Amino acid sequence: MRKPMVAGNWKMNGASEFASLMSTQLNQHAASIGSVDVVVCPPTLYLAQVQNDAISYASAAQNVHFEEAGAYTGETSVAMLKDLGVEYVLVGHSERREMFADTDAVVANKVAAVIARSLVPILCIGESLEQRRNGEAFEVVKKQLLSALQAVTLKGGEVVVAYEPIWAIGTGETATPEQAQEIHAYIRSVLAAEISAQVAEKTRILYGGSVSAATAAELFSQQDIDGGLVGGASLKIADFKTICSAAADL
Ligand code: PEP
Repeated sequence: MRKPMVAGNWKMNGASEFASLMSTQLNQHAASIGSVDVVVCPPTLYLAQVQNDAISYASAAQNVHFEEAGAYTGETSVAMLKDLGVEYVLVGHSERREMFADTDAVVANKVAAVIARSLVPILCIGESLEQRRNGEAFEVVKKQLLSALQAVTLKGGEVVVAYEPIWAIGTGETATPEQAQEIHAYIRSVLAAEISAQVAEKTRILYGGSVSAATAAELFSQQDIDGGLVGGASLKIADFKTICSAAADL
């Protein structure tokens, strides 16, 4: 059995007051629902605060550099995140792939660096609208997945995969539960065929793309959807709590 996970990606939003409000409400809520790994991904500047305040949930960085240390102005290393007690790192979010030159090679290096220090990458993959329309969704997702995992040896549980169709991110257009389940089942089949049945069985695959308080329960009820990576709705505390509860009800 895979423990469901809900991760809230604040992107470049939120500040210390919001982080405090969130911790007051989310610590209690996450403790009461119990059976879900709740994760909050604030901007780097607020990671220490979130990490310190979080009792019943975990924190994640939105990005990391793959090098250990050195002349990389503005960057954060995996060792620094580990020093703070951060457990998870988003890797390969489509916004970073599109706007910050996170190529497949960079993503693979980041995944390897994160796993090497025993943190867990939340690896984001997903096709664009054009690729979906061209019937390339399966091919794109497979290529991104295998390329990102090429430098690591997995036994199961070291990585979380987030399927995030780009056309559904921040657009209000959610994949239907059937569309999402189809790709999730495919991702699991690729993990089984290319790595091992154990890795396929143990890997949590989250859905991301305009998940809301209204759509979460149906999405999460799909067999291969193990929770969600939530952007916009994670900035509304009541909605985020409802989404976490939807995962707990699985
Ligand atoms: C995301 O940023 O990962 C995301 C899924 O955003 P949204 O929920 O706003 O579509």
